[in-house]
Amino acid sequence: MRAKRRLGQNFLTGTHFPDRILRALDPKAGEAIIEIGPGQGALTQGLVESGARVIAIELDADLIPSLSDRFAGRPNFRLVEADALQVDFCDLIAPDSDARVVANLPYNVSTPILQRLIAHRRCLAELTLMLQREVVDRITAEPGGKEYGYLSVLVQMYCKTERLFDVPPGAFRPAPKVFSSVVRLKILPRPAAEVTDAAAFIELTKILFAQRRKTIFNNLRAGFEKLGLSDAASASRALEAVEIDPRRRAETMTVMEIARLTDVLHALREEK
Ligand code: SAM
Repeated sequence: MRAKRRLGQNFLTGTHFPDRILRALDPKAGEAIIEIGPGQGALTQGLVESGARVIAIELDADLIPSLSDRFAGRPNFRLVEADALQVDFCDLIAPDSDARVVANLPYNVSTPILQRLIAHRRCLAELTLMLQREVVDRITAEPGGKEYGYLSVLVQMYCKTERLFDVPPGAFRPAPKVFSSVVRLKILPRPAAEVTDAAAFIELTKILFAQRRKTIFNNLRAGFEKLGLSDAASASRALEAVEIDPRRRAETMTVMEIARLTDVLHALREEK
């Protein structure tokens, strides 16, 4: 069957990289593991053999019959034909509430799927994901560099990140243009920094990185209405309260600083 580009289908070939991913995951008999995009089953086979309870979510209807046939009669395998951008992962695994996720993610939607997984973190314990290498660079970036941005802050707020290994284009059919990397994201038992309003933290992070080349203050000034502030001067007051130089750029801000700023802005809104 021809791979569909619009579904980001780059199938792993051979056994070397599937085996490495499975070894890194180390699935245990009886545990709930969600696989997003099983495709032709490169990872699914080893998952099912481990005895884990595998819930595979595949969007491509053309792949469903061969997957169903291949794993027919395996009581620990469940195939769900659905869009990972629509499913409620927690409903899917209930009454379990600490599933692990493994996926060679379709590149075209890898970031929205990652965001959705983080939004469902209450029922997930760990994500082992293959992504484009540059996306993993962004996820694992430290403050101060050009890779550090919205995705780094979002992921590092809720996960401990660990880059595992790179995978060359030749490991896939068809071969993508870029290298991939496998990353392990462990959901933290508590966020890296406490905030009163988690949605406000995410909104603030978006605003801070809206224009990377602008200063923190200029981004806040441009977004003060979205932040629920009465005027741009309030943004200035908030930065003063958390002792952040308004001339800095967001890429220098730690998760902790963004969290503190979120809380001060929250307090200002409450005052209004
Ligand atoms: N796991 C297989 C492998 O490693 O060879 C396939 C990986 S391929 C990069 C991505 C898979 O995700 C494809 O099977 C594709 O059909 C599926 N897919 C694409 N978009 C999806 C979505 N929104 N929800 C669920 N599966 C999706």
